[in-house]
Amino acid sequence: MAPRYYTTPIYYVNGDPHIGHAHTTVMGDILKRLNLMRGDDTFYSTGTDEHGQKNQEAIEKSGMDAEIYLSKLSDRFRELFDRLNIQYDCYIRTTFESHKTVVTKVLAHLHEKALIYKKDYTGLYCVGCEQFKKESDLDGHGNCPDHQRPPIKQTETNYFFKISLFQDWLKKWLMSDDNLIQPLFYRNEVLAMLVEPLEDLCISRPKSRVWLGIELPFDTDYVTYVWFDALLNYITNVGYGISSDFDKWWNNSIHLMAKDIIKTHIIYWPIMLKAIDVAPPSRFRIHGYWVGEGGQKMAKSLGNVIEPNDMIDLVGPDGFRFYLAKSMGGTDAQISKALVLSTYNTDLANNLGNLHSRVVKFVDKRFAGRVPPKTRTFPEDRALQEYVAEKANETVMNCDLISIPNLIATSLEIADRLNLYFNDAAPWKMVKIEEEKERVHSVLYAMLDCLRMLFELLTPVIPETASKALVSLGSKPVGVAAARHTFLPDGLRQHATFGEIVDLFPRIDN
Ligand SMILES: [Zn+2]
Repeated sequence: MAPRYYTTPIYYVNGDPHIGHAHTTVMGDILKRLNLMRGDDTFYSTGTDEHGQKNQEAIEKSGMDAEIYLSKLSDRFRELFDRLNIQYDCYIRTTFESHKTVVTKVLAHLHEKALIYKKDYTGLYCVGCEQFKKESDLDGHGNCPDHQRPPIKQTETNYFFKISLFQDWLKKWLMSDDNLIQPLFYRNEVLAMLVEPLEDLCISRPKSRVWLGIELPFDTDYVTYVWFDALLNYITNVGYGISSDFDKWWNNSIHLMAKDIIKTHIIYWPIMLKAIDVAPPSRFRIHGYWVGEGGQKMAKSLGNVIEPNDMIDLVGPDGFRFYLAKSMGGTDAQISKALVLSTYNTDLANNLGNLHSRVVKFVDKRFAGRVPPKTRTFPEDRALQEYVAEKANETVMNCDLISIPNLIATSLEIADRLNLYFNDAAPWKMVKIEEEKERVHSVLYAMLDCLRMLFELLTPVIPETASKALVSLGSKPVGVAAARHTFLPDGLRQHATFGEIVDLFPRIDN
């Protein structure tokens, strides 16, 4: 099947890992697991961006050794991702030698092709953004809108990359495929940025100002601009210039990101690749921002900032993953402690957890902890199994970043249907009647088999709990190797012995 290479942006280490980092990384993990279920070979990368002026200032302030300090910062991200059960294949740090080699090689190549030139530039520089600003970028008070402080006028001699040469190519390429960018309305935002001619991109910083970066191969007085360096991680990870697998992954690359970094990813990055004769990325999948309850921007002053580690403490990694997956597609979504808790109690404790517990405990008691054998299949029970199998297959085959909430909606729809079916069939009544024995077996087998498929479907979202649920039913957790997983009725072995039966989602009162 088709290989897929998913990437998250690499996260700037100077700041705590926040909900946005957790979200993109969890979604990438869900997509990786879904692709493995589809039988697609998948490679998934994430990591940290560790160069640039802000990191340098933080190191200087800390008085620590740069290498030790940066490792410590990067580890906070890795620890969060480990707590969230992220199965990344590659955790890149821009301070890795392998990455420096690629950046150096690309710069030398562009320089040889005369696509890089030196010039004086006087402009308004924002230290927070590490970028020169145009007047039109500033707010009404002359401040950088992201940092609420005025940029400083500064003259510098720097190296520039002739991106203006590629503007027409870029526009044509953006229009060539409606599936390139999803949600598609972000393409209009990018096209709006291309109405005016692009200015050449400054790709260097003088060492007198910034020492934390990758030295330019053609001028040792300069380091590479942090964005230019960071974007190249996407090809470093899959062995650009060294691995025979490079094309296999790169030709199926899917960049996941929040909406604030589309300019660097959809304008600068494809041009950088075009300039070194590497194919542009295959797909961009974009999500919105997390905002507080009521739609307010999260801010320390408003007291509505949600820390990912706090949410894991509250509802566990799976409870938190479930909330993220359920709540956000391509646009902004709300989060608060109360919302996370009520989703956990409603969907996980009262619905899925309760359904599992009712069915499994009922069978456990009356059938000595074994899956009941079917002596006859009743068409209505078989129809229930077929409904679940069909829904699950369809959902896994069609799932993409912006449709992850559909996977949750479908799972909850299946759970509702199973709850109703169990209530209507009322096996606790039939079990007392000898003539109903065959039907009871058929109903209970169908319920358990449907639960199996439901928890298989939920495995990419709640891997730990789904595995526990599958073991309790006498089934196996879904493997992580790339082998097509097809949902088929009657996959649960008759007479199979139940594993440990645990309360999957204990109610949390708070
Ligand atoms: Zn700024």
